[in-house]
Amino acid sequence: MKPPVFDYIAATSTDMAVAALAAAGGEAKIIAGGQSLMPMLSFRLLRPSLLVDINRIPGLAYIEEADTCLRIGALTRHFQIETSPVIARHLPVLSAAMTHVAHLAIRNRGTIGGSLSHGDPAAELPMIAVLLDATLHIESVSGQRAVRAQDFFLDALTVDLDSAEVLAEIILPKLPPNTGWGFEEIARRHGDFAIAAVAATLTVSDGSIRQARIALTGVGPTPVRAAAAETLLIGHALENKLVESVARAVRAAIAPEDDLHASADYRRHLAGVLTDRALHAAWRRAQGEP
Ligand SMILES: Cc1cc2nc3c(=O)[nH]c(=O)nc-3n(C[C@H](O)[C@H](O)[C@H](O)COP(=O)(O)OP(=O)(O)OC[C@H]3O[C@@H](n4cnc5c(N)ncnc54)[C@H](O)[C@@H]3O)c2cc1C
Repeated sequence: MKPPVFDYIAATSTDMAVAALAAAGGEAKIIAGGQSLMPMLSFRLLRPSLLVDINRIPGLAYIEEADTCLRIGALTRHFQIETSPVIARHLPVLSAAMTHVAHLAIRNRGTIGGSLSHGDPAAELPMIAVLLDATLHIESVSGQRAVRAQDFFLDALTVDLDSAEVLAEIILPKLPPNTGWGFEEIARRHGDFAIAAVAATLTVSDGSIRQARIALTGVGPTPVRAAAAETLLIGHALENKLVESVARAVRAAIAPEDDLHASADYRRHLAGVLTDRALHAAWRRAQGEP
């Protein structure tokens, strides 16, 4: 199908973009990589009267290292994130997750800002943003605001963004020293959206876990951080009985639904299995194993 008719503005600054969005009174959509927006237009799931193209805004695509965090511009393409040596050094769980996002052609166009703003319930980047406790910087004609990733995803394809706001920057804290990570995903084919995926990090010292994080995607309308399951790990070494309890707590923390791709029961089962694998991988990496 063809998209409905729309007007088009190629913004050359964030100020120009937010002014155009504000003037359109809720009728405009931003276009970044277009990899999610264009299918939605073609299926006529969206009918904006105006597209505000942010691709020509200079300085919106970057990966910058600061002391304790990495700052990523919203227009940074998936492929830049996947191949960034800075991200591989400080946030290897993000590098690993990116290889599961769609296919190379889509990763060449798709952007981190687009993926987070779209809020697909089975996408990898929202899960990683929640896992790493990212902060999202948002701009509009009224000024700037910051939102924690865990408060940003409200429902399937629904995020805390007004129609006149632009997601400008994503701040990801670096992983602490002695932190291992695991990323496990099941999809029907490589590059498909996840049926379920789990990402975990474990920070270990003197043989026991000091900080644990577990996040999931594909198991509900928004990414899930399994906080109660995380606390079970603190102060312990990883062993199989403990992992079984954590996997049970993860299953209890999610509310998956049946759909065309999988039943809720299968997703809940996967959540436990993938948690087990991700935690073991994180534990091994925290001990310095490759
Ligand atoms: C065949 C196929 C398979 C895919 N598989 C996966 C997958 O396995 N995992 C996965 O995570 N993704 C997958 N995707 C989606 C892909 O990652 C998209 O690139 C991403 O979801 C959207 O990014 P984009 O830059 O293309 O955004 P666009 O399509 O341009 O925009 C998406 C939405 O976000 C809004 N938006 C974009 N940028 C901003 C911004 N800076 N501020 C505010 N709002 C903004 C737009 O208005 C629109 O509503 C797939 C896509 C396709 C076509």
